[in-house]
Amino acid sequence: MKSVAGPLKIRRSSKAKRLRLAVKPGLIELVIPRGTGEAQAMAFLDQHRAWAEGKLLELNDRASRIPAPASFASSPTLPWRGREVPLIIREAPGLRTRVSVEGAIHIALPQGLGETRDEVALRAFYVWVRRWLRTHVAAMVERLAPRTGLRPREIRVKHMKTRWGSCGPRNDINLNWLLALAPESVLEYVVVHELCHISERNHSPAFWSLVARHLPNYAEERRWLKLHGAELMRRFSL
Ligand SMILES: [Zn+2]
Repeated sequence: MKSVAGPLKIRRSSKAKRLRLAVKPGLIELVIPRGTGEAQAMAFLDQHRAWAEGKLLELNDRASRIPAPASFASSPTLPWRGREVPLIIREAPGLRTRVSVEGAIHIALPQGLGETRDEVALRAFYVWVRRWLRTHVAAMVERLAPRTGLRPREIRVKHMKTRWGSCGPRNDINLNWLLALAPESVLEYVVVHELCHISERNHSPAFWSLVARHLPNYAEERRWLKLHGAELMRRFSL
């Protein structure tokens, strides 16, 4: 496979009439009509790659200029544990700011917040997710402990600009709050990764074989983070 700056998705279509490159935020999609050979598709990709990469950068740049609270509050859906679910913001006089997630993300807000509305909504979601994720991961660690024998001193969830997790020298585990938005298996990979740092402080072959012992398919979850992680971080840069 030729390398493309940014994730490439290949879609074979019985409806498409011709080879086509579609550029979406964070993604280049190559659409291959039925009956088109691999060599022809790759030649087409080669020919239009520079254009698609330019377009992708432009899109990413545009997305990053929208202030995070505004783009958050105006999204009809949000990712939650790997699925897009509806975001429902309700404003009424006398309501207290409150978040709940059941099939959809519900955010209740008092009326009259004015310009701060979007910011309040995003902050409330962030605070709720941090608490939810800490509890969820604590239970996960307990479930894994009989197998791994690894327990962190403390689990902290916070906003991290470029990382998904870290393990401190005193075995505190820090996790990026956005992991709650990723699929459960990806969250579990990051938790196991950081837990393994309790016994292996580096990324040596010994470390990776320990990760593989607990999660044999971890490469898939790493791939997910490579493909979608940057976009998630960009979309919710607090
Ligand atoms: Zn690591």
